[in-house]
Amino acid sequence: MEQSHDQKEQTPQEILRSVMQLCADCDTCRTMMEEDCAFFIELYRLVDQEKEEGIPIRESQLRYLTELCTLCGLCPCPKVPMDVMEAKSRYIEQEGMPLATSLLNDVPRMARLCGTFPRLVKAMQSNAVLGPLLRKATRIHAERQLPSFPKQNFFQWAAREGLARKSEGGHQVAYFAGCTAGYLFPQIGRSVVEILQHNGASVYVPPQQCCGMPYLVEGDRKRTLNLAQTNMQRLLETIRAGDDLIYSCPTCGFFLKRLLKDRAYYSDAFQQSVNAAEGELKVPAPEKGEGQFWHLKKLMYHGILKDDGYFSSIDPMDRIHLADHLFDFGFYLASLHAKGQLVTDFAPLPERMAYFAPCHLREQKMGRPYLDLLKLIPELDIEAVGSDYDCCGMGGVFGFKDHFHQKSLDLGEPLMKKFRAHNPQAIITDCMSCRLQFNHCLPYPVYHPVEVLARAYKGEASRQK
Ligand code: SF4
Ligand code: SF4
Repeated sequence: MEQSHDQKEQTPQEILRSVMQLCADCDTCRTMMEEDCAFFIELYRLVDQEKEEGIPIRESQLRYLTELCTLCGLCPCPKVPMDVMEAKSRYIEQEGMPLATSLLNDVPRMARLCGTFPRLVKAMQSNAVLGPLLRKATRIHAERQLPSFPKQNFFQWAAREGLARKSEGGHQVAYFAGCTAGYLFPQIGRSVVEILQHNGASVYVPPQQCCGMPYLVEGDRKRTLNLAQTNMQRLLETIRAGDDLIYSCPTCGFFLKRLLKDRAYYSDAFQQSVNAAEGELKVPAPEKGEGQFWHLKKLMYHGILKDDGYFSSIDPMDRIHLADHLFDFGFYLASLHAKGQLVTDFAPLPERMAYFAPCHLREQKMGRPYLDLLKLIPELDIEAVGSDYDCCGMGGVFGFKDHFHQKSLDLGEPLMKKFRAHNPQAIITDCMSCRLQFNHCLPYPVYHPVEVLARAYKGEASRQK
């Protein structure tokens, strides 16, 4: 995120006003994002209204605008959503975090509460009197389907299986499960472990917390930075021990690999590490080939290209080191396959499934590794559904919120239509936020790719929901 000295002094309203000015002048996202982003729809509506009808934008409308960016990463300029997050953090620093929001985002706390008070959750799901009251307290929309929390979460299972500690010897792989596989869909974490063990690896689950993405999106700067720092130290230990490090949730990956690293290359520490000459800024240029750089004139860019973004308080070399050594599990398996090291004794799965590559995977620019892997399963008829701009509309937990529920369904509808037209026996996607939305909108069972791969290794036909 670009944050000049001036921006450090700006109010949230001023930051939002400059974002609006930038996007109004550019105008690219007026048509490009008109069906895919509630933030841009509202931004252009407000700008047009002010310009054409002379109706000034109200304070409350600016504040509401920050609620509409889910940090999906679909828009072309990373600076824009990160500026919105900066503005939102400043609002929260003034207003405090609403209790309903902090509860809704805290999946580990929700899991603990639901495990401790299973009757409360049941009441929320089914009791005609208590249900609406409880939903009102947490601001969850009355019609939003709620996920159920499993009796045993993945971390408890992993501890019982002896995976909370590293075993001796062998090819060690550390697994960052994240909250969704950790607390909501433990079968995903178990499938990752099974796949790795089938390939001869020793898996362990290092101590970890939520990646921080839900807190970043809600403007909770303190919590976001605390989580990022804590996870980073623990994960760097696994890398320094020479172990491979993988994740199965594309949102965790987007946060830990991409957002955290944002602007770290502009830091003095990085510039010294790549021997930048006096008066130049060296910026990695993977598009030109491995180890290549863009050489920029410091005099022209040093005022703008600085490591002064949201995560600049964390060591830039640590942020880069983590990003470079942490891998999406699909990418990791596809790399093993490319080296001829992936076990491919998959049993046939005679089914017709549709694969959706979620926004946060697409934004990591690594292709669709799981789609290629799923094609290795004999008799599995698998096809990609959805374009590069399709979004399920859920936006993390945004789709649960009463004020965003209908917007979330509207944003996802173009994609839902494509699935209905395809009419698969099951949907496969790596993102569990998409899974919750698909479960809400469509009649098909939904799986993470690792669940299907693990079943094919075990020779199990797909289970229907
Ligand atoms: S996000 Fe970037 S491309 Fe889109 S309107 Fe704003 S400045 Fe233009
Ligand atoms: S990150 Fe996503 S929700 Fe936010 S402005 Fe960009 S496209 Fe819209």
